[in-house]
Amino acid sequence: MLIFIFLFFPSLYLNTKIMIMAKYIFVTGGVTSSLGKGIIAASLAKLLQARGLRVTIQKFDPYINVDPGTLNPYEHGECFVTDDGAETDLDLGHYERFLNTPTSQASNVTTGRIYQTVINKEREGAYLGKTVQVIPHITDEIKRRMLLLGKEGKYDIIITELGGTVGDIESLPFVEAVRQLQWEMPEEDCMVVHLTLIPYLSAAKELKTKPTQHSVRLLSQEGVHPDVIVCRTEQPLNNELKKKIALFCNVKPNAVIEAMDASSIYEVPLMMLQEGLDIIVLKKLQINGYAAPELTKWREFLDKLKYPKTKVTIGLIGKYIELQDAYKSILESFVHAGAMNECKVKVVDVHSETITEDNVAEKLSKLDGLLVAPGFGNRGVEGKITAVKYARENNLPFFGICLGMQMAVIEFGRNVLGWADANSTEMVKDTTHPVIDLMDEQKDITAKGGTMRLGAYPCHIKEGTLAHSIYEATDISERHRHRWEFNNKYIADFEKAGLIPSGKNPASGLVEIVELPNHPFFIGVQYHPELKSTVENPQPIFVHFVKAAKENKKKRDAV
Ligand code: GLN
Repeated sequence: MLIFIFLFFPSLYLNTKIMIMAKYIFVTGGVTSSLGKGIIAASLAKLLQARGLRVTIQKFDPYINVDPGTLNPYEHGECFVTDDGAETDLDLGHYERFLNTPTSQASNVTTGRIYQTVINKEREGAYLGKTVQVIPHITDEIKRRMLLLGKEGKYDIIITELGGTVGDIESLPFVEAVRQLQWEMPEEDCMVVHLTLIPYLSAAKELKTKPTQHSVRLLSQEGVHPDVIVCRTEQPLNNELKKKIALFCNVKPNAVIEAMDASSIYEVPLMMLQEGLDIIVLKKLQINGYAAPELTKWREFLDKLKYPKTKVTIGLIGKYIELQDAYKSILESFVHAGAMNECKVKVVDVHSETITEDNVAEKLSKLDGLLVAPGFGNRGVEGKITAVKYARENNLPFFGICLGMQMAVIEFGRNVLGWADANSTEMVKDTTHPVIDLMDEQKDITAKGGTMRLGAYPCHIKEGTLAHSIYEATDISERHRHRWEFNNKYIADFEKAGLIPSGKNPASGLVEIVELPNHPFFIGVQYHPELKSTVENPQPIFVHFVKAAKENKKKRDAV
């Protein structure tokens, strides 16, 4: 009877078996950075999830910052924030967008955090007079954190992406920790996937395997031998080449996986499925009885993405626009919302510092919608305010996020309420109309790391508002990352003049959403809705904003 049940309900078998012990996959990178380890890790995770396994991903970063919260976007791209308020690497955004499950504080660990823990323990006297060393104390702490999510009983598979490139001095302790874990664990509980580059030399018309051979050798010198080699390449790898890589790198030929450049990151899971990456992994980890991959929703999304029926142009106003990664989650949210609307969303960059009253119409009149991005500090804010004014007065669909919402409040204060010096105290400390002010709990904080209002907070939405029709709910939760807020001293003035606070934090009364009822689409949110958009659950404000942009375009085309 038992055999019968297990035969026909393999996931039951999987869960009973794996509940006892999670399995671990480590993803390393060689040859160069920016090969897309995060996307490969997320794609593998997606495939395993689609086969019925409970999967999560975590990222270990070799830099000394305790978290990326204090890093400038030019250094590190966007800072992704989890529900529980961790400021993390932007790859966690990919993990969530692919898996449709939230990550947490435990999902991103840096060298800084490891050392901080070890040094704090040393100060407490926890090492009992021992000399504290990289091996075993730092590597023990790395290993403890690598295994942490697996101890919760919530996951069958933990994929750990190691930041950096093999051979970097900084990543040595992480690779050493993987070596030790491989040595400590049963063979079938742990494996390593190594991502490398196979460059194409156009002069020789040849793909070259040598850098991959070297990077695998380097990894082996550090004591870790990869089980699978994923090869980023611009040209297809033929069987002969795969065999050569397999021979020189000492893996089986079917463990050499081709990862061609894709037109969308969301195609990578299907490419990896075709290459059989998930099957090799399942075999190595001795996981049997897995289901056929359930990717119906994913394929539907890809179809819509590939064959849009219309196109809209959205202007993204920010100060880091030359840097794709700075607004990663916003750009991906537009991909999700665009597919939902069967519409290609072309996001054009508008540098806030170049906008003036004189050129604003010329810069924005061809747009179907305007998004004013989050940000910090003074640079470019006047341009943002000028752009909001244009959107408000010209019925251009407007969406302001965090600083973008604050700009909308300042613009309204200046140009509708007539307070010429309305401002945020972030920009001008002694303005006579501080319509955006530092939150009370922020006033005594001086340290910069991890001290903003971070993570998920509830928001209560007023019925009958635009926000209500977007969310189709009165109580929502969204993630935050800010220090300043709408100054409630002015709430009645704004409301009387027509800018409605349609969402508030139920406990503190902090304004979370503002909107203009006499406008086709004008909404500003203090939180970061882009952090929760996934392929399977596109964020509703983005979906409705793209819809409004489509309608605006139709109207303009009809004239
Ligand atoms: N600088 C603003 C604040 O701290 C906005 C932050 C943001 O856009 N994330 O409140």
